[in-house]
Amino acid sequence: MGVHWIKPLEIGQATNTYLCKMYRPDIKEWLPTTLKEVKQRGWDQLDVILFTGDAYIDHPSFGNAVIGRVLESMGLKVAIVAQPNWKDDLRDFRKLGVPRLFFGVSAGVMDSMVSHYTAARRIRSNDAYTAGNQSGYRPDYAVKVYSGILKKLFPEVPVVIGGVEASLRRLAHYDYWQDELKPSMLALSGADLLIYGMGEKPLREVVNLLEKGVPFDKITTVRQTSVFVPAHKELPLNKNWTDVYLNSYEDCLKDKKAFAENFKTIEVESNALEGFNRIIQKTGDGIIVVNPPYSFLSSDEIDDLFELPFTRLPHPKYKKRGAIPAYEMIKFSVNIHRGCFGGCSFCTISAHQGKFISSRSGDSVLKEVMKIAQLPDFKGYLTDLGGPSANMYKMQGRDLGICRKCKRPSCIFPKICFNLNTSHKELTALYKKVNAVPEIKKVTIGSGIRYDLLSPSHNKKAAATSTNMLSSWPATMYRGGLK
Ligand code: SF4
Repeated sequence: MGVHWIKPLEIGQATNTYLCKMYRPDIKEWLPTTLKEVKQRGWDQLDVILFTGDAYIDHPSFGNAVIGRVLESMGLKVAIVAQPNWKDDLRDFRKLGVPRLFFGVSAGVMDSMVSHYTAARRIRSNDAYTAGNQSGYRPDYAVKVYSGILKKLFPEVPVVIGGVEASLRRLAHYDYWQDELKPSMLALSGADLLIYGMGEKPLREVVNLLEKGVPFDKITTVRQTSVFVPAHKELPLNKNWTDVYLNSYEDCLKDKKAFAENFKTIEVESNALEGFNRIIQKTGDGIIVVNPPYSFLSSDEIDDLFELPFTRLPHPKYKKRGAIPAYEMIKFSVNIHRGCFGGCSFCTISAHQGKFISSRSGDSVLKEVMKIAQLPDFKGYLTDLGGPSANMYKMQGRDLGICRKCKRPSCIFPKICFNLNTSHKELTALYKKVNAVPEIKKVTIGSGIRYDLLSPSHNKKAAATSTNMLSSWPATMYRGGLK
């Protein structure tokens, strides 16, 4: 099958930018990263400046690009300072001036300590999120370091932290690298607001409130955010939520069981389909408040994110520094859903993305496939059509009323929940549609496949041991079937 030119009608709403086989975006199609690029747009002041420990890759698989594009879609002037130098005179932190609304800080796609050290605590010699695969471009505990610098240079400007490092360290947590319990990243970093999980919805809400004139320090009850309240102040009020008190950071330092009890509560509250419990933890001379999460994104909501105007390319400034391995791995792959209901104890995907699956529509996925087909070095091979687990696309509880009351960390362990629809029909239909695109020679599934979802014996066991209405399913067919 040869590579064909795509006619406008075939790609539906794909932008004209992608109609050219030799796609070479103008520098202004990336979010600006330097003062020169800011000036090229005729901007005098930015609304938000994002600092990140990763190189800037303008692609929907990279959180900083997504957050930047979401803010841009709200009409804001946004810039990204990627991998700022924290060891010199701090010019990278000053070069774009003071933003109108706030600074955003993230360590990058991974926790900076995972980026830097192996499980044996040896320093890594490379970094997949840096041009040329080079290490040393971000500090240990990047969120704490970047926020500390910004607060020192611009104490009056709010700092919002997010991404995996801030999100998973939002309450007292065990730090493997120093083998000790640490307090919330809010207390460690001095930041003003923490956004946990996938940040688009809470961030939009924060910006909407700021644009309505709400002072930053009054933004304390947005879902999926966390704030530090000094001990002498009253806790913010939200009459729709119930407060759940964790053992304090200091109690956890004295008693491991107190810490373990907290973990269970945090897990249950983070995985709620519709959370109405607010988590409270006394820490030092204040209180950490973690507001309940938003529910999972609808198809329309997640489609909108993937249709933001990403160039899908690393910023051109990295050209001479070599390839960015994390980008090379995903540049011809498509993410079709978020979230994972596997609940594996070693994994943090559900802790960050949630237990419920947000799936893109088939049309949105096809549009992205068409865009990839127009990239200059695409040879017809898609390396993934996947997600955190490849085969959870469009899967959820049949009765979401039951899911609303559910406290299980996993929908499939120790047995598959009677309420879970494990049909692969939607997924295989999508595979077939992508396979039929003339520009695609072959698709491989690079994401991990859950064989237990496919295995008749596992489903049979689930059915046999279940006391529910599905206990009489045929043993030779898993629920829904591979139709
Ligand atoms: S009820 Fe079943 S399908 Fe729904 S969230 Fe709980 S385990 Fe998952």
